[in-house]
Amino acid sequence: MATKERPDMFCYQCSQTVMGEACTLKGVCGKEPTIARLQDNLIFAIKGISAYLYHARELGYTDDAVNAFIERAFFSTLTNVNMDAMEYVKLALEAGEMNIRTMQLLKKAHIERYGEPVPTQVQTGTVRGTVSSSPVTTLRCLRNSSSRSRALTSTYTHTLRCFLRTATRV
Ligand code: SF4
Repeated sequence: MATKERPDMFCYQCSQTVMGEACTLKGVCGKEPTIARLQDNLIFAIKGISAYLYHARELGYTDDAVNAFIERAFFSTLTNVNMDAMEYVKLALEAGEMNIRTMQLLKKAHIERYGEPVPTQVQTGTVRGTVSSSPVTTLRCLRNSSSRSRALTSTYTHTLRCFLRTATRV
């Protein structure tokens, strides 16, 4: 079976995109594949940072440097006026620093709100009862929902139950 060749780039960021689908060789705007990849890389990094920052903000913590970086990095990809590859490499390196900073912020938020995590005995095995498929991803959500409904807690994985015990100790 013939393998389908991967396009050099895939960008459908704006209304000028080829055939209303995507620029796959070179951008109508002049964007080169390398820049497109560097921009994609930066967007993935921003998404990751934003996810952890969101959790920290839920607990009332934020970081001006991280906020400013996210705005600057988004701006550099959305406006398409910066086609300097080295600028994107620098932003990628900065994203690594901001990622660590955000993880430290979230750790601080968790510890100051819920205390240091400690090894905790948990129930293992299955439990008969109703279940919910609601994704529960933050300690704040876990803590709130645990006080609302015991049935909901039966849906958590082993790991999340560990977190639940930790979260409800305070
Ligand atoms: S930003 Fe440039 S490369 Fe991307 S879709 Fe628009 S014209 Fe094409």
